[in-house]
Amino acid sequence: MTLWMSYHGYMQLKRSGRNYFGLCPFHNEKSPSFSVSPDKQIFHCFGCGAGGNVISFIMKIEGINFIEAVQLLAERANIALPTLQNNADTQKEELKAKVYKVNEFTADFYHKNLYTPNAKIAQEYVKKRMLTNDTLKAFQIGFSGKFNELYTALKKQGFEEKEILESGLVNRNDNGEYIDRYRNRLMFPICDVRGRVIAFGGRVLDDSKPKYINSPENVVYSKGRNLFGLNVAKKVDLKKLLIVEGYMDVISLHQRGIKNVVAPLGTALTRTTRIFIT
Ligand SMILES: [Zn+2]
Repeated sequence: MTLWMSYHGYMQLKRSGRNYFGLCPFHNEKSPSFSVSPDKQIFHCFGCGAGGNVISFIMKIEGINFIEAVQLLAERANIALPTLQNNADTQKEELKAKVYKVNEFTADFYHKNLYTPNAKIAQEYVKKRMLTNDTLKAFQIGFSGKFNELYTALKKQGFEEKEILESGLVNRNDNGEYIDRYRNRLMFPICDVRGRVIAFGGRVLDDSKPKYINSPENVVYSKGRNLFGLNVAKKVDLKKLLIVEGYMDVISLHQRGIKNVVAPLGTALTRTTRIFIT
């Protein structure tokens, strides 16, 4: 795979002379003004002026930083990146990598928990909402248990306080005890556009308030930059997205075959989220 091939995953490109042309993903247009030069490995849009190399293209379209873009490209091309020097950036990247792992483990932990006898209240709720097993699996819907069940499981798994607290899934109280943020709630993992779990939403199963709580923003999660369901919807149709209010709206429409649906995560849409919608 040559580097410039990376553009193909996002749009259709047609050869014209030495260059390739396609519809620009950064502005709305009907005739192609987005060009890619395989020789120079750069792109330029004659419509909106966007331009750069493949790394800046990936940064812009995925809404990620330079290091993440390089990692993503390396991953796709099956290239192992050399280990970086030990500096602040690297430490942040390492923490991020661990938080992703904490989230991945937690999504699985909550999902499995949904099928245990402890989750009766959640099982009744999903039954009432007529969610099928396929849907529960597709969205990895789960159930959070008591006091510090998740914390105990994370520690047992070898995770350290630093990444556990950064994930926002566990808080430390004034007595120094670690308490799970989500208890007795129906759990919705929130994924980024690449399908990595970056946060959670938890719904109460009784009358207590608030009805929903969400993960705080952290090294891997920024509300305005993500949409619930986008990782699923982008496989269907990137140009037409239906925006609905909440997780359950996305999930029930998805179950009825309407799959290009997303929900914002509690804040107004930002420039970055808008890229995917125009
Ligand atoms: Zn453009």
